[in-house]
Amino acid sequence: MDKIRVLVSGICGRMGRLIGEAIRGTPDTLLVAGVDPVGAGADLGETIGGRRSGMVVDGELGPAILRSRPQVMVDFTAPAAVMGNLREALARKVACVVGTTGITEEGLEEIGGLCAQHGTGAIVAPNFSVGAVLMMRFAAEAASRYEYAQVIEMHHPGKKDAPSGTAMLTARRIAEAKGDPMRFPQPEHVSLAGVLGGETSGIGVHAVRMEGFVADQRVIFGGLGETLTIEHRTTGRECFVPGVLLAVRRVVEQKGLVVGLENLF
Ligand code: NAP
Repeated sequence: MDKIRVLVSGICGRMGRLIGEAIRGTPDTLLVAGVDPVGAGADLGETIGGRRSGMVVDGELGPAILRSRPQVMVDFTAPAAVMGNLREALARKVACVVGTTGITEEGLEEIGGLCAQHGTGAIVAPNFSVGAVLMMRFAAEAASRYEYAQVIEMHHPGKKDAPSGTAMLTARRIAEAKGDPMRFPQPEHVSLAGVLGGETSGIGVHAVRMEGFVADQRVIFGGLGETLTIEHRTTGRECFVPGVLLAVRRVVEQKGLVVGLENLF
């Protein structure tokens, strides 16, 4: 069986290095290129924590695609970079697996349109961990039983966007399952700006950024005389690897856009 040819965009970042290493170490996938302006020219193998490979990190996506002929681009870059990368890759009929967060609803619509226009596939998932997917599913199940819901996400201080894509997707799943807005009381006196967090469909959303967290989330539901807390904790970024590899294998067979890892199960 031919190996799936994969280019990793953002190869010098925390996730890019990890995914690059996993792609290289998996029997049915082949790492054909890594793109990142930060480490352009550095040895690709050493960049992902291994032996010298003789291949270098590319600084620009277009030339890297032309040279390495990937079937799949995996993107773990930044909110400001991801849409440009997707336009470039999909226009060249490279299927896309996107972990980068911060993509708007309009962005998703555009990606779906590009997939249709070029006959390619894309999988966008704000969270590739199985536990996070289950957390969202359980939260959606609980939603109709409660009047109050708060989502608290906790991430490492280097995360560039807030709130996390997972927090927003969780809130969306709760809102869809509930139908009516949750209750979000406004105290008469608020003496500290922002202390109640953000709010969408009556669901409070809070972001915590500090050392010690990778990507955790707690969802708290409140009702008469009780609360229900659903918590997902991560101890390492390795939790995202199996989901990304599953998406790489699926996206080569797929036409159109799929949003959310749960749709691959
Ligand atoms: P990171 O360590 O900052 O890595 C991102 C890398 O991409 C950096 O080296 C960055 O360079 C580079 N980059 C920026 N623009 C680029 C471009 N146009 N082409 C290629 N590379 C580019 O971030 P991270 O922690 O790996 O996270 C990356 C993204 O994945 C974030 O949006 C994060 O929220 C998301 N994430 C998603 C999941 C999931 O399961 N879906 C899990 C973890 C993280 P600069 O430093 O110069 O910008």
